[in-house]
Amino acid sequence: MVKVRFFTVALIALLTAAGCKKEAPEVAGSAPVPVAEVPAAAAFKDTTVFLLDSIRKGEGPFNLMERLRVDRQLRQRVLYALANEADLTTLKVGEKFAAVYNMDTTRILEFIYYEDLLTTHRIRILRGADSVTVDHVLDEKPSRVRHQLIRGALNAGTLDAELKDMGMPPRVAQLAMNVLECKISFRSDARIGDKFELLMEETIYTDTVDGAAVEHVLNGRTQLLYVMYAGERVKGLHAYKYFDGDKSSYNAHYTEEGEALVFLGLRYPLDKIHVTSPYGMRRHPVTGQNAMHHGIDYRAAVGTPVYAVAEGRVTKSTFDELSGHYIAVRHNDGYSSYYMHLSKKSVAVGALVKARQVIALSGNTGRSGGPHLHFGFKQPNGTWMNPGSKRMIATPKLSGDKLDKLGEQIAEIRRIYKELDVPPPAS
Ligand SMILES: [Zn+2]
Repeated sequence: MVKVRFFTVALIALLTAAGCKKEAPEVAGSAPVPVAEVPAAAAFKDTTVFLLDSIRKGEGPFNLMERLRVDRQLRQRVLYALANEADLTTLKVGEKFAAVYNMDTTRILEFIYYEDLLTTHRIRILRGADSVTVDHVLDEKPSRVRHQLIRGALNAGTLDAELKDMGMPPRVAQLAMNVLECKISFRSDARIGDKFELLMEETIYTDTVDGAAVEHVLNGRTQLLYVMYAGERVKGLHAYKYFDGDKSSYNAHYTEEGEALVFLGLRYPLDKIHVTSPYGMRRHPVTGQNAMHHGIDYRAAVGTPVYAVAEGRVTKSTFDELSGHYIAVRHNDGYSSYYMHLSKKSVAVGALVKARQVIALSGNTGRSGGPHLHFGFKQPNGTWMNPGSKRMIATPKLSGDKLDKLGEQIAEIRRIYKELDVPPPAS
């Protein structure tokens, strides 16, 4: 069993050559994963060594390849071939990979990624006389789609909680919220009795349990084709799922007019939100004059961490007599967020910042009547706007062929309504 011991760093090693008794390998650290959970394992077990491992916290595919002992000079090629076919940018802890070796483990034959229960990507390493090539084989188990319409009115709870109560997977409920929050401020505008409607597309697969066929929903694949919200303070918002092609950055939800509803994480600039002075006309606390207040003041003790509200590029990191130390960040849609009266700035002009990145510590510099953060938002034309009404960082609208394609897909969604025998969304 020398070969097995050689691989004890991996989660599991299978060696079942003729006459060889199957033995549980020694496992360092983690519990072994039952091979039965991995559909392709059985196909390899008689003539090869099969190694299975999964992504651990903070890891990418390279760490895993190292643990699975993929030859250093092959790693890049194998990964490129795989990344062409599967999305490896959002790998989660526990996602499974495998490597298949010849019996004496001198040669890797395949590198495998189990995307989900139905989809397996196999990168085959093919050796010619004097060259090595890699190719990709997609194994897809049969499945079908099922459509489900969810309709309701808001009771006492939040929409998010209500959707989960109705049995919607948390991931899909969150997606619905992200789409709607682009346009709706639930905190101020949701009212009891507001109406909502969602059309889900589920992937169904069949499993055999004790000889009987049992249908399951593959939760990770559930899609939100349509979402609508309308109420007392919100006029109807209709969002349609648009599929532009695999890996297209246009894949998202849109209004019928082609406006993207992508909530790119517009976050609060502080951990604790307490408005001490809202946007609008007011008597200035220092000068006593009536004047327009071009932002929102938040209570913040000197030294409180200040976050960028969305990703963007720092365009100002400077000081003036009125604003004190201040920072401006220009976002992807041309709007800029401003953070004023700071005590310490931690980013320089030109820096790229992410949403929720600490960019400064709040303070009481410039013309300020006490420690606070003044937070402002400027439109691309340079005029101030109420930061409270800024819900999203917009992506460009669909036009031309893409807008036509959206129209076709909306027609398809309406056809599904017909199939479900339900009146389609009002256009
Ligand atoms: Zn202010």
